[in-house]
Amino acid sequence: MEVKKKDIRALTKEQLRDFFVGHGDKAFRGNQVYEWLWNKGAHTFEDMTNISRDTRAMLHENFVINHVKVDQMQRSSDGTIKNAVRLHDSLVVESVLIPTATRTTACVSSQVGCSLDCRFCATARLKRMRNLNPDEIFDQVVAIDNESKLYFDRPLSNIVFMGMGEPLMNYNNVLKAIDKITSPEGLGMSPKRITVSTSGVPKMIKKMADDGVKFKLAVSLHSAIDEVRTSIMPFNATFPLKDLREALEYWYSKTKNRITYEYVIWEGINDTRKDAEALVQFCKFAPSKVNLIEYNPIDDGEFQQANPKAIDMYVSLLEANHITVTVRRSRGKDIDAACGQLANKS
Ligand code: SAH
Repeated sequence: MEVKKKDIRALTKEQLRDFFVGHGDKAFRGNQVYEWLWNKGAHTFEDMTNISRDTRAMLHENFVINHVKVDQMQRSSDGTIKNAVRLHDSLVVESVLIPTATRTTACVSSQVGCSLDCRFCATARLKRMRNLNPDEIFDQVVAIDNESKLYFDRPLSNIVFMGMGEPLMNYNNVLKAIDKITSPEGLGMSPKRITVSTSGVPKMIKKMADDGVKFKLAVSLHSAIDEVRTSIMPFNATFPLKDLREALEYWYSKTKNRITYEYVIWEGINDTRKDAEALVQFCKFAPSKVNLIEYNPIDDGEFQQANPKAIDMYVSLLEANHITVTVRRSRGKDIDAACGQLANKS
């Protein structure tokens, strides 16, 4: 009977060192292989040229290297690139490269489908199929880094976990991936350039604060009124705003890191002064920034972007209360690469 080989990239450096010692070799060999896997992006054991032929054959007998494959790459008229990334079990996730004059941002997925049920998001309709492994998250970043070098002559500068999935529902793997992305043996990126975006899972926000993470936090708020938020993000009934706020206060007390809120204003849903006032109140307990994001339609018109006047009303009220606010334009809409559109067509 054929034994299913283990993905070598599921091993920590320590485990890899132990493996070599267990096979009568030096622990140091583990470091070399680890570097091939994570720093040099080796796709096969044959790539590992400073490892002896016998050792490579032995690795081959015991392990596989499960790399993701970019199946399809689409380019938007605004320069945005969307990758359809095929996983070893044939499932597909999407990641996006967003270029600006000075930066390249990777928007990566953390789950196949999503555990949550936001009514305005295309990914939510897929339901959660599985969590991504750390290496599957890492590989999306490497693919975008390579594309950035190829098409824009510069490495990737920022990462946002705003692709498919809820990162805090796959917390351990997201953390492991970020460890690899930030470690000198991986991509050596600063955690300050990484933002994890969550719909708001209070228990996990507190855990992040306790774990002393160094990346930034963004919360998809969309409403600071429970009834409204529950109507568009039904899980809010389980994690109400009071709990979210308490977790965020805890986060701020521990990290002293400003919180960014993502917020779409929809016609007839959250476009009144009362909605804007509730947002201002919600932002007051800690230094906050609000990103007003454009709605990217995913359906037959149930949700409509609010009138520009409503957006102006929010902006003036937030500014009058000294809360930083930006109005963000969508990127990559023509290829369904904008927020909430991932998995629209596949
Ligand atoms: N689950 C995480 C990350 C993925 S969603 C989160 O909720 O934060 C990334 C961002 O896109 C979130 O702010 C989400 O609310 C927003 N979004 C989802 N659908 C959208 C749509 N159709 N138009 C605009 N933004 C959308």
